[in-house]
Amino acid sequence: MGLKVMKSSQVIRCRAAILWKPGAPFSIEEVEVAPPKAKEVRVKIVATGFCGTEMKMLKSKTLHHDHYPIIMGHEGAGIVESVGEGVSTVKTGDKVITLFLPQCGECASCLNSEDNFCKQFKQSETNLMSDGTSRFTCKGKLVYHFGNTSTFSEYTVINEISVAKADAFAPLEKVCLISCGFSTGFGAAVNTAKVTPGSTCAVFGLGGVGMSAIMGCKVAGAARIIGVDINKDKFEKAKEVGATECINPQDYEKPIQEVLFEMTGDGVDFCFEVIGNPETVAAALASCHESHGVCVIVGLTIGDQLNISGHLFLSGRSLKGSIFGGWKSRKDVPKLVSDYMAKKYNLDPLITHTLNLDKINEAVEFMKTGKWQVARTIFMSEYLGSRERVPVAAALSAASISLGPYHLPVSCWLPVASVSIPTPEGFCQQQNAVLPTPD
Ligand code: NAD
Ligand code: ZN
Repeated sequence: MGLKVMKSSQVIRCRAAILWKPGAPFSIEEVEVAPPKAKEVRVKIVATGFCGTEMKMLKSKTLHHDHYPIIMGHEGAGIVESVGEGVSTVKTGDKVITLFLPQCGECASCLNSEDNFCKQFKQSETNLMSDGTSRFTCKGKLVYHFGNTSTFSEYTVINEISVAKADAFAPLEKVCLISCGFSTGFGAAVNTAKVTPGSTCAVFGLGGVGMSAIMGCKVAGAARIIGVDINKDKFEKAKEVGATECINPQDYEKPIQEVLFEMTGDGVDFCFEVIGNPETVAAALASCHESHGVCVIVGLTIGDQLNISGHLFLSGRSLKGSIFGGWKSRKDVPKLVSDYMAKKYNLDPLITHTLNLDKINEAVEFMKTGKWQVARTIFMSEYLGSRERVPVAAALSAASISLGPYHLPVSCWLPVASVSIPTPEGFCQQQNAVLPTPD
């Protein structure tokens, strides 16, 4: 089938969840999304998860450097709508996974096989595109980008180096988790810690990322995987994905590291902090075997100081950081998607809720309260080839709330499309979205 490579010059008007100021709720607004410039792609976001990092950012008054209004979201999957000049690795109609961690392929980190921290990551700190401008406006105001991706929008503009091509058959409402949560936790176990067969592991924090770390420990052959969380409602799911036992620090009078030493004899071989709290980092390190124990910090503690006794390192414990599970994003994400398609792992248990983006403030409440045993909430924007709103979530999650595409006024969209999407045989109909043309 012939593919049109669209170099769109049109502005797209669509809906997005905007954060106007720190501490405010998200506000669903109509935004203008400018065409992609050189080396950029405009992506129709089909599904995006809600990550613990967003919660951290929402709570922080300073992390965005006063860059408001802003469109957050970084755990996305979508379809390339158009490409800017010089884009050679993806084309209109390609399914892509968004990458908060780019891979430019040229910097010292990209050229080092042991390193995944592409120097272009720092671009995200500007909350703008590489040329110092934004592709988003709302009500006449510039709107800032987030995490090199801004996936809480129906359309977003992303640098070519911040998208990875996904298998044309991949269900985007699942593989969006490869964009952050799954890859981060799973990779922390298999790449950063290099969990060994027969070992004992502990995972502090049983959100979507912690659950994925458990999956990584299991695949690596760990004999014992102990889940640690203050929300016992997470335990059933943690066991479903591979935890052999789960404990709640609030059930004990003594520090959790002492409990883990009693449970294991010598401490754990590998420990993962997947909360982002300086005190639990210290406890996780202290839970490790005194000589060979490895503690991996996955939870972000940006802006926080760690207070750790030097004594803990005397006998040989190590403490390591990990970003995006140590994966080289553009190189490894297509393979992670293929592995999912080959049923080498299952993302279903991680998806506990599927919502319309209109409900984003409810998702914030779930995360705050731990209600509904949230692992991951996915937001969907799905067109099934016409202007009609079609509920698609029901099949995805028992607890899902049915949705349409952000309740867009139909007048925003013209009938199908000057953009052609490849339709490989057997393409899931839900994914065979035909992009609406911008008005
Ligand atoms: P989440 O909010 O879904 O999960 C956090 C879990 O920690 C919850 O189950 C909560 O009940 C539990 N928890 C909170 N305080 C606790 C305590 N004192 N003791 C035990 N458990 C406690 O978050 P998530 O999406 O799974 O993300 C987890 C962390 O990973 C966040 O800090 C996020 O910023 C970080 N993260 C890091 C990277 C990376 O590349 N390093 C990528 C994504 C996310
Ligand atoms: Zn994330």
